[in-house]
Amino acid sequence: MAQFIQYHITPSFPEAHLFYITLTIPAVSEQVTLRLPNWIPGSYMIRDFAKNIVQLRASDGKVSKGSKDSWIISGIKDDHLVVEYEVYAWDLSVRAAHVDQTHAYFNGTSVFLEVIGREQEAVLVDIEAPVGEAYKNWRVATSMRSASEVAIDGGAELYGFGLYFAENYDELIDHPVEIADFSLGQFEACGVSHDIVLAGKHYADMPRLEKDLQKLCEYHIRFFGEPAPMERYVFMTYVLGNGFGGLEHRASTSLHCGRNDLPRVGEDSVSQGYRTYLGLCSHEYFHTWNVKRIKPARFLPYDLTQETPTELLWVFEGFTSYFDDLALARTKLIDVKSYLELLAQTITRVWQGAGRHKQTVTESSFDAWSKFYKQDENAPNAIVSYYTKGSLVALALDLKIRKATEHQKCLDDVMRILWNQYGKVGKGVEDDTVQDIVNQLTGEDFTAFFQQALYTTQDLPLEQLLAEFGLQLKFRASTGANDKGGKLDSKSEMASLMVNWVADPLGAKLNVVHDFGCGQKAGLSAGDVVIAVDGIKVAGNDLDNMVGQFTTGSELEIQAFRRDELMSFTVSLEPALATVAYFEPVSEQELSSHAKAWLHL
Ligand code: ZN
Repeated sequence: MAQFIQYHITPSFPEAHLFYITLTIPAVSEQVTLRLPNWIPGSYMIRDFAKNIVQLRASDGKVSKGSKDSWIISGIKDDHLVVEYEVYAWDLSVRAAHVDQTHAYFNGTSVFLEVIGREQEAVLVDIEAPVGEAYKNWRVATSMRSASEVAIDGGAELYGFGLYFAENYDELIDHPVEIADFSLGQFEACGVSHDIVLAGKHYADMPRLEKDLQKLCEYHIRFFGEPAPMERYVFMTYVLGNGFGGLEHRASTSLHCGRNDLPRVGEDSVSQGYRTYLGLCSHEYFHTWNVKRIKPARFLPYDLTQETPTELLWVFEGFTSYFDDLALARTKLIDVKSYLELLAQTITRVWQGAGRHKQTVTESSFDAWSKFYKQDENAPNAIVSYYTKGSLVALALDLKIRKATEHQKCLDDVMRILWNQYGKVGKGVEDDTVQDIVNQLTGEDFTAFFQQALYTTQDLPLEQLLAEFGLQLKFRASTGANDKGGKLDSKSEMASLMVNWVADPLGAKLNVVHDFGCGQKAGLSAGDVVIAVDGIKVAGNDLDNMVGQFTTGSELEIQAFRRDELMSFTVSLEPALATVAYFEPVSEQELSSHAKAWLHL
């Protein structure tokens, strides 16, 4: 048997939140450098995972630190080296590692040191169960292949502990692992076996999840064309009281959701929470093609030592965000009314931030590392999201392509070209690739559209484009911090401070003060705790409703603490800006034939 680099990993002491890892490196020379990634693909922020390595020891030679993320072992005399280390795993997110008495979860980027210069070698991973009665029902969920699939002895059985295999380091860190007494659902989609793994306390109706996700996965596979690019796929969900998040991988996804988001037995409607969960599954599954295989040239290969900016996240996150909800409508998991509500909510999220006037979607993408991923109280006033704005660029482009080609072509075709000519053959996407594909597909020059949509902060002409498909997009003023849009609301002309706030023992703590609002004009600031409105205590009341009862045009006295200083503000009341979107109600039958074609009705 060939000598593989081998990792042995076990959550041997879950109570201390530690993974123990032994790395055995055959055929070593006199010096070896080991390194842990500083970021995880799909989540564009430096996270310095190496900070969680607690102790590192080598069987031979002298260990010294090379940089914050690397270790140099020099003076090695043996022909192989064994390195042991512990990783502190107490980050409950889809991006890192987490272990306690209830489960163990890790991404390879948090636990597997890379052997510099040998990243192309195949590796084995031996996953061992913790010892103890409490863990006897734990199983392993991962899309990593068992070593037995490549004819190596000791290969793990499906969901079992034992030996797993990865072709190289890049693959090794792209198969997260969930170890727990989890619930398991299974289905086939276009011949590919899919697992649904639910860890954490939950009451989900698993047969319903199987049925709904099967529909969704078959849709996406056929969208890009059979066969699917993966042999098997795992939806890994950790269920929490409240939670939301997901990260895409080549043959799996790690998700977090709230317990009440998942449907219970006997429930057959689609709750808002379940709609959100299905949208998240749809989003991460679409990434199996769009970003895991169709990639920015800049990511070929990933440089995990430092920030790797690209201006293309409007394609990779934006287009994915467009097709995720659209797929729910096209598969009829949600109805048209529900889809248009979601679409209007996305438009609202973009329009509600004055940041859309200040940052372009390509700048947002490029600066994801320092701005989108490091949002502060000023973010809504300073930045635009490449997810939401990117998805609206996709919508506008889709509608424009349909119009330009007399409804013969659409954005689906652009995605299929990206898949066949780039993703499938491992060719990277450049900044102008999508523009070139669209010009070729339509035979028209889309330069002006792309110039405006990508490189200026002008609003996209959505009202006009949607009207041509018979859909009337309208805007109204916000009724307060909880107004997500998507619906008409008669209260929307009321006075509004244009602030976001959270309840505080003393009153309402402002976390965002929006540009152009009367709250900002009066001097209210993020961090202020508003305690009285017209002399009435705010604690226990809804600040938006309290202010909304006064007439616009009148003056209102507001008291707030800034740090420990009590301050008074005179606010000249105005309604909020008209930034909340909704559609004029339209029944399915009344939709135009072009809208029906777009929604696959
Ligand atoms: Zn995404």
